[in-house]
Amino acid sequence: MGSFQQVIDQTFPGSLPEAVFVERAYEALAPLGFTDEHTIACVGLCRDEISRPLVERVVGVWGEAFNFSSLAGMLFLGKTGFLAAQSHAPFFGGRQRHVYLVAPHIAIGEGGELGLCHRPGQTGPSHACGALCGFLGELESGRADAALDADDLEQSLLKARLMQHLEWGQVPNLAELTLLTGKVILADLERMIGLTVDIETADYAVLSGVQIHGPKGAALFWPGTHYAMVEGIRRSFRIPD
Ligand SMILES: [Zn+2]
Repeated sequence: MGSFQQVIDQTFPGSLPEAVFVERAYEALAPLGFTDEHTIACVGLCRDEISRPLVERVVGVWGEAFNFSSLAGMLFLGKTGFLAAQSHAPFFGGRQRHVYLVAPHIAIGEGGELGLCHRPGQTGPSHACGALCGFLGELESGRADAALDADDLEQSLLKARLMQHLEWGQVPNLAELTLLTGKVILADLERMIGLTVDIETADYAVLSGVQIHGPKGAALFWPGTHYAMVEGIRRSFRIPD
């Protein structure tokens, strides 16, 4: 029998309380120009209401957040959505600044059960991310369908996008699938930034990782890739644990 902490230590080492992650990200980015008044924040998390407190943390430091969210935190808003967010950014010193925070999410139970959570008002166990659990169920049954479904757009797009990164017959566990989803989200973010951001006139920062819901309301964030692009130069920064 495992434990929540064992899964964190083995699979998501360096995870921080999400409030601490957001505060430290702000402290790291403000000296690079990404202050509240000079920046628009854009947040792409799962639509799940248990993801929402992290959005509020971002709003708490950057003052607002353009909503990029789709099921599982996938980025399906496209160029139109990215350009809309960027057009809302303030100008300061002739430049605009965007901060992108993107992440899939996973619940982990007290005994280390992947996907397990409890929701207020429900007596039985629940799961997160439900979209990834649903896809995993299809993979386990050997009947994952990647066709676009007009009545299930986000889920069918999610499946098609993730299946590009799975070997035929490969069935990851939920933690592995969540980490893979995080990589795909980051790749999609960077592709969309390449298509829509003019680094001659705009600076941006990328914050990626995995949002983790633990027992008794624990809310953690596992920091993945993060960096800033300031006046066309990539700047690394550290978020201390
Ligand atoms: Zn979800």
